[in-house]
Amino acid sequence: MERYDRVFEPLGNFELKGITDKSIEKLKNLGIVTLYDLFYYFPRNYEDRTNFKSINQLKEGEYAVIKGKLFGIETLRTRTRKTMIKAKVSDGTGFVELVWFQMPYLKKSLKMGDEYIFIGNVKRGYNYQMTNPEYRKYAESKGVSKEILPIYSSNKDFNQRSLRKIVKTALDSYTELFQENIPEEILKKYSIADRKKALKDIHFPKNTRDIEEAKRRFAIEELLILETGILEKRFAIDSMNNEMYVLEDNKNLVKKFLGNLGYSLTKAQKRVVTEIYKELNNGKIINRLLQGDVGSGKTIVAVIMLLYMIENSYQGVFMAPTEILATQHYLSIADTLLELGIRVELLTGSVKGRKKDAILEDIKNGKIDLIVGTHSLIEDNVEFHKLGLIVIDEQHRFGVIQRKKLREKGVIANLIVMSATPIPRSLALSIYGDLDVSIIDEMPPGRTPVKTKWINSSSDAEKAYSFIQKKLTEGRQAYFVAPLIEESEKLSFKSVQELFKEVTRRFPQCRAGLLHGRMKNSEKDEIMHFFKNHKLDILVATTVIEVGINVPNASIMVINNTERFGLSALHQLRGRVGRGIHPSYCFLFSETDNDVSKSRLMIMESTTDGFKIAEEDLRLRKPGEIFGIRQSGFSDLKFIDIIHDVKTIKMVRDIAYEYLRKNSGKIKNTHLRIDIDNKFLENL
Ligand code: ADP
Ligand code: MG
Repeated sequence: MERYDRVFEPLGNFELKGITDKSIEKLKNLGIVTLYDLFYYFPRNYEDRTNFKSINQLKEGEYAVIKGKLFGIETLRTRTRKTMIKAKVSDGTGFVELVWFQMPYLKKSLKMGDEYIFIGNVKRGYNYQMTNPEYRKYAESKGVSKEILPIYSSNKDFNQRSLRKIVKTALDSYTELFQENIPEEILKKYSIADRKKALKDIHFPKNTRDIEEAKRRFAIEELLILETGILEKRFAIDSMNNEMYVLEDNKNLVKKFLGNLGYSLTKAQKRVVTEIYKELNNGKIINRLLQGDVGSGKTIVAVIMLLYMIENSYQGVFMAPTEILATQHYLSIADTLLELGIRVELLTGSVKGRKKDAILEDIKNGKIDLIVGTHSLIEDNVEFHKLGLIVIDEQHRFGVIQRKKLREKGVIANLIVMSATPIPRSLALSIYGDLDVSIIDEMPPGRTPVKTKWINSSSDAEKAYSFIQKKLTEGRQAYFVAPLIEESEKLSFKSVQELFKEVTRRFPQCRAGLLHGRMKNSEKDEIMHFFKNHKLDILVATTVIEVGINVPNASIMVINNTERFGLSALHQLRGRVGRGIHPSYCFLFSETDNDVSKSRLMIMESTTDGFKIAEEDLRLRKPGEIFGIRQSGFSDLKFIDIIHDVKTIKMVRDIAYEYLRKNSGKIKNTHLRIDIDNKFLENL
């Protein structure tokens, strides 16, 4: 038997009768390079030839199958002296003009008055037209009238007929190579169609049931490769458990810290803390996604876990996606932890030179207990003495690879990633299949939901401005957010500088500051610091403030050109207010006519529940645009719609889990193994 991995070789390595090297070269433009690509170049649709379209119902541009009597055949010459055969076909409801170029022999084979089937793209000029349509005598086709033909996505190089021929040739010669990659017992238990049969059926089905079964099979196959791949890593990590560490369960530091906090944990926070304690105390390696809406208090949970590890003489890392956020985390925890005798340092891109060297040195020799920072923490020159827990905030901004890189630095590989852009649990489990999921589904007490208003007229805008003025006078602070850094694209988009000018003009007696991504980090820090200490009343900013920023006295959020933001970004931005005791307000400025944008605005007005917003987001977006999905391998699924096929996703995850559990975490099927390695190589 030939090696399975031959299927990943380029088409040129195979003997394919009648397919020229030139065609093989051109197929690359359709993304078809290997034999596998060709076999998995599935039809985008099918033409059921029992279902003829009546001519008076044809639409411009559609790919149609019509049946009718032929008349008016004539041979002409084009200006470039090419032969052109013209004819007309009528089915009683209308007629279509047919044109063929460079096929003089048609003159003989086409017979006036006979019934034919024609297949092709419909153009609408003065009359309906089809250029180079496929044809078949109706009488002849009667015997095969059950035939269903594939329709492929194509370009000018290939018509349907030539693509079909290429696929057919490959199927006839090489289907044998595509050995089963779904383990036998799974195939049987879930009545999944056999791979070779499904490959033939998906291209040339005999009936619609063939199509359905083949589609189901490939959806499962695709997911299974992904899920078993993800879970295999998970099992590998789990198998390291119980060998590496024993923690002393005294929690003195944690107790002191909680005592100084000034508030008590919510039920949800307590539950999650207990969940993680339990795993740690069992010597289990933590690998957990902590989801919680904006403002639900994830930070404190992370700090508690870090303290617990530090108490057990491990080091901790707290990593954030931006300098501002890292700095904020640092400032908010450094003092309290210092009181407990813990050394915390900040390491970001702007820490340089001797200071940086000193910090690196002290991380290495274990003098620093907790290090807060940005991506700088995964640079190769950062070495730890005894790293025990890594916390990553706002994880949707980090790629899978970065996560892995960081973890490899750890003595043990405990990892908590936190995200405020929640996705439904079942989806999260599948997408972050290698992570457990904890959810903080409760807000700290005393929060009043942010009131949100969509502003789409200048009179509403005036009202909003005077309301904001009133709140500023009462001593509150406000954010104004602009989507772009500089004046570009269309004039109607307010750049952040322009917005700054406008804001200072409108609120002359208020102190306003400007914050955007192109400023130096030290400048950014300074502005943030001023705003935090109420040396500024207004902060005009780009989305650099999107995540994490915490200024409880700020109770007004104004977002300009709201239509430029996705739902989850809007939710994040709105989450910057409503963090203190004051009632908070969010004004969404937009004059959009776009339906999706309008839906987003209405959702924002109607709810502040991050989980609901996430669900709506799933509905409104294309899968590839959702949260962390892009790096997860779930964005380029071909046969699964992650929004609508949640059931299948869940089923396959369960199948994959069961399979690995039975096989002690190992993938036994060699073909599946090869597919997984290919898939995960692609993703790197
Ligand atoms: P997020 O989950 O968005 O990261 P944070 O951890 O920044 O939220 O918490 C938001 C605010 O809520 C912070 O000011 C924090 O001190 C406060 N907070 C957290 N937990 C509680 C609690 N149990 N009771 C009262 N306030 C809390
Ligand atoms: Mg946070």
